Amino acid sequence: EGTIQRIAAGEVVERPASVVKELIENSLDAGASRVAVSVEAGGTEGIRVRDDGVGIPEDQLEAAVAEHATSKIADIDDLEAGVGTLGFRGEALYTVGAVSRLTIRSRPPDAEAGAEVAVEGGDVGEVRPAGCPTGTTVVVEDLFYNTPARKKFLKRVTTEFDRVNTVVTGYALANPDVAVSLEHDGRETFATEGNGDLRSAVLAVYGRQVAESMLEVDWEPGPSTAGGDHPVKRVTGLVSHPETTRSARDYLATYVNGRYVTAGALREAVLEAYGGQLAPDRYPFAVLFVEVPADEVDVNVHPRKLEVRFDREAGIRAAVESAVEEALLDHGL
Ligand code: ADP
Ligand code: MG
Repeated sequence: EGTIQRIAAGEVVERPASVVKELIENSLDAGASRVAVSVEAGGTEGIRVRDDGVGIPEDQLEAAVAEHATSKIADIDDLEAGVGTLGFRGEALYTVGAVSRLTIRSRPPDAEAGAEVAVEGGDVGEVRPAGCPTGTTVVVEDLFYNTPARKKFLKRVTTEFDRVNTVVTGYALANPDVAVSLEHDGRETFATEGNGDLRSAVLAVYGRQVAESMLEVDWEPGPSTAGGDHPVKRVTGLVSHPETTRSARDYLATYVNGRYVTAGALREAVLEAYGGQLAPDRYPFAVLFVEVPADEVDVNVHPRKLEVRFDREAGIRAAVESAVEEALLDHGL
């Protein structure tokens, strides 16, 4: 928990995928063991995220959608930092509610009944009783209905859905102990079991052939590590056999300190490790968790955005490349 996770005001909601990201994060924060995401028309018409987490007590529902209502501002330093350029946390639901029709229905495990509140274009309705299972369901309809300029920026339904899929996949692979599912227009895209096994999550998301081809990565800097100056503490995860590839590089999922990131440097490092073993224009699958000291990640990159920069990028690249090379070598590749 630190600066990196704070948000800059107003940049939370860009498209359905960014809404989905915020809602999944809330579900995971709530300790959910199941997170079910379903979207309509790529999320442009509807987004629903249902979890079995701690829920929101009836008397806190209104606060949950209010500006700057967060349960997570740890102390006054956080708050003060938030007043500056980095902005507040606790505004995701508020911001989404301002640009959509949002309903939150929730029931904590110890509550006798559930309750719900609806927000329409920022107008918060009354909290009412609602029948619902334990946990929280957030429904977002008609995203950007009241901000046509933003709505115009949305791409085709298939493109928006691809982005949603990438986000949900990213969280599913990062949290193999949580059962994560995705549905599009009533059809299931995938559903992980939540049994804690990364390979099983890969199987659910990418299918059996990919899951079976995955090679284990578990690398730590050692005395034999070239260079010596590695800011990386550990690299773990799975990478595919060089013959199990796709024609797009979308299947290289990288995580830095548990956070899903798109870092060109990390992707290139993975590809370097395969060297000449990949056919032209073919890309492997990878799910890689890189652990670095917190101060190695550039906090000036917006924490809600996915891209990340490193202070010692060359060292991190070298470490990731070594980690993947080692996994390939271990399998005689
Ligand atoms: P933040 O997550 O930064 O605190 P949000 O606007 O995303 O801000 O959420 C506001 C608050 O609503 C959270 O701090 C939390 O207390 C509550 N909340 C939101 N989603 C859930 C959920 N799925 N389960 C339980 N509580 C939730
Ligand atoms: Mg949140």
